[in-house]
Amino acid sequence: MKFIELAPGTSVKGEKIVAFKSELDAPKYNYILGAVHGDEVEGAHLAKKIHEWLGETSEVNMPMIIVPVVNVDGYKAGTRVNGNGVDLNRNLPSAQWTPEAREAKYFPGTAPLSEPENKFLVELFEKYPPRFILSFHSWYPVINYNGACKELADFLATFNKYPIEADFLTHPTPGSLGEYGPQILKSPVLTFECPVLSDTVTLDSVWKENEEAFKKMFTTKIIETFKS
Ligand SMILES: [Zn+2]
Repeated sequence: MKFIELAPGTSVKGEKIVAFKSELDAPKYNYILGAVHGDEVEGAHLAKKIHEWLGETSEVNMPMIIVPVVNVDGYKAGTRVNGNGVDLNRNLPSAQWTPEAREAKYFPGTAPLSEPENKFLVELFEKYPPRFILSFHSWYPVINYNGACKELADFLATFNKYPIEADFLTHPTPGSLGEYGPQILKSPVLTFECPVLSDTVTLDSVWKENEEAFKKMFTTKIIETFKS
């Protein structure tokens, strides 16, 4: 399938936030986001590999938006937070947004949607409404689903054997995409937590253990199963 590069967003430090859109237009789009937390490079790698493969294959043609690295400043600096020290996944204007942070690394900003990286995402969501969002993170491997995409989470888990969680009940995430997507955008969100790089985990091994799952996600009809 073919992609075009959209007008980029601009980060706190003036870096470009690169975004790609399918040539195909539609009322709603499937999103892939990487590195909302800048130091979670594993997910940015998966987003790039999926984008690369989609660009080469003739098996798939669907409305899509891909932002491989959302938090470009954090990605460059190797930090979770953006150039203002804000956790972008606590800064979205969900009903539960709060100025309180349990730890400094979860600093939600001075107001919901205060950060340019999130403003750029929300502009994309308004212009190209999502029907499904896959957001890559890294922590311990887990597939976390918010909204009606459990079937897709189950499907991916059959390949990678990662556990599945309905939401972070024991780990509240006010102002996260997992809250904002289903609540405000009426779009299911799959927060895909990759294993973290270590002596035995490499970018390539994370891709290899997920390659078949993601390719099948696009070439079978599973991606059409959720009811957004
Ligand atoms: Zn994360």
